[in-house]
Amino acid sequence: MSAFIDARTIETGTSQSPDLAIIGGGPAGIALAMALADTQFKVLLLESGGMNFDPAVQKMYAGQETGYEPLDADRLRYLGGGTNHWGGWCRPMDASDFMIRDWVPSSGWPFGRETLEPYFPRAQSLVEAGAWAYDRGGDALASSHAPMLPLGKGGIYTTWFQFSKMQDDVLPTQFGHRYADDLRGQANLTVWLNANVTGIRLAANGASVDHLDVATLNGKSFTVKPRYTVLACGGIENARLLLVSNDVMQTGIGNGADLVGRYFADNPIPRDVATMVVFGGKLASYYSDRMDMGHGARLKAAFAPTDDYRGIARIGGSLTTVEQPVDLDDVGKAAVATTAAALGVDAGSARAYSLGCGLELIPDPDRRVTLTPEKDALGLARLKMVNTISDEDFARYRRTLEELGRQLLASKSGMLRINCTTREEWMKNMDWGHHHLGTTRMHDDPRRGVVDSNSRVHGLPNLYVAGSSVFPSYGASNPTMNLIALTLRLADHIKAVMA
Ligand SMILES: Cc1cc2nc3c(=O)[nH]c(=O)nc-3n(C[C@H](O)[C@H](O)[C@H](O)COP(=O)(O)OP(=O)(O)OC[C@H]3O[C@@H](n4cnc5c(N)ncnc54)[C@H](O)[C@@H]3O)c2cc1C
Repeated sequence: MSAFIDARTIETGTSQSPDLAIIGGGPAGIALAMALADTQFKVLLLESGGMNFDPAVQKMYAGQETGYEPLDADRLRYLGGGTNHWGGWCRPMDASDFMIRDWVPSSGWPFGRETLEPYFPRAQSLVEAGAWAYDRGGDALASSHAPMLPLGKGGIYTTWFQFSKMQDDVLPTQFGHRYADDLRGQANLTVWLNANVTGIRLAANGASVDHLDVATLNGKSFTVKPRYTVLACGGIENARLLLVSNDVMQTGIGNGADLVGRYFADNPIPRDVATMVVFGGKLASYYSDRMDMGHGARLKAAFAPTDDYRGIARIGGSLTTVEQPVDLDDVGKAAVATTAAALGVDAGSARAYSLGCGLELIPDPDRRVTLTPEKDALGLARLKMVNTISDEDFARYRRTLEELGRQLLASKSGMLRINCTTREEWMKNMDWGHHHLGTTRMHDDPRRGVVDSNSRVHGLPNLYVAGSSVFPSYGASNPTMNLIALTLRLADHIKAVMA
């Protein structure tokens, strides 16, 4: 039986020497701790928050931002991290998300999707998204409920989201509350709550991590001297902790190539990008809502470019979804009547729907977080985030919509009007996935990545990074199930190196 210890009650000066320290108890940190349950290694999980929201703790996330959500609203700083307010949308990344794509600068992972595939089933089980039914697997399940919208031959296909489910159909799995008992029951694990890591301290020669500085908001401070450390503080905070730990390496840990904090990305979600008319009338409900298919799987359809088409059309990943039914104006109605007549189909019961999407951004080193002179309650420099979307990102997605429109006409099932051309139109109804990607990117060449293909910080034998900050290119899929799979792979690696 392990214990959750409130670090505010520990005596200042207490020291711990676990085999492994995990910094951060979000889904990455929790999945890692649980994956080591069957080992003899002593594991200490250091979590900044407690079991629930605390405004004083949360305030340590505040920073400055341009073109982005407030940094203390877009994340949650207590056990379970972002899963305390996530939407539960899940989808594995596509094979081409991992590939070096010559039309996407700085793209490519050091390995392919097949490396993560063995870990997907356990990740899917941890997020509680039911039987695996993504991609073509969902087609059979969905068609048995109601017919799918036919698409003519081309570069766009129907794919599937699945949804994490903790309670009823409302609440996705919140890792802190859902797995607290499992963590408490884990004999080799200690969890310190309200324990903020304020610095990763290297040996004087900079060759390894010597210890971690830990502090609480009620004035306690401790030293943890682990054999190995995994940084799992989320896609923005991972970069911050490396940058502020600059006493031995003056530009921060792992930042010899000036990459820490760069290449930040999220998945932008522009809404009402197009109006799709379905000649046959009402779409099956799994297009606009998540639908329970049995076996614990709730599916929602999306339109995605195939891996091949992404290369042919030189586009990025995207997942286009049906948002809601909309009314057509007179011009729209006339266009439907004319098109249907030309195709020889009956559009008497045609219905229109607005489309939205989640987009992959092109990696950009200038989209980044940097330190500011302003400090948080424990003296750590706050961050400044600069976020941008290029016109090229929109132009690529427009080509995707054009192909979808062509395929609807080819199948005589519908038609599409694209609503966005100018930057202002794309940005008008812009939302964000709140997916924090890329700030400690993975590459086997230390000049091009912060961590290597095992998620180990270049040049340091005992420091690893978990989470979507290591994604070197991003795809359009929601990251959490993928980052958990990557963390389970890291757990296997760590078991081997610690043995
Ligand atoms: C509104 C919203 C909706 C989302 N919806 C989805 C979705 O539908 N699908 C999806 O896949 N993803 C979604 N996400 C993203 C998802 O929440 C993240 O991908 C996920 O939580 C990242 O996990 P993580 O463990 O890497 O980091 P986090 O969840 O951020 O966890 C980091 C943990 O580290 C702790 N910590 C931070 N600093 C320190 C420190 N110095 N010392 C000790 N501990 C520290 C924090 O308290 C936190 O518990 C959403 C995010 C938001 C904000």
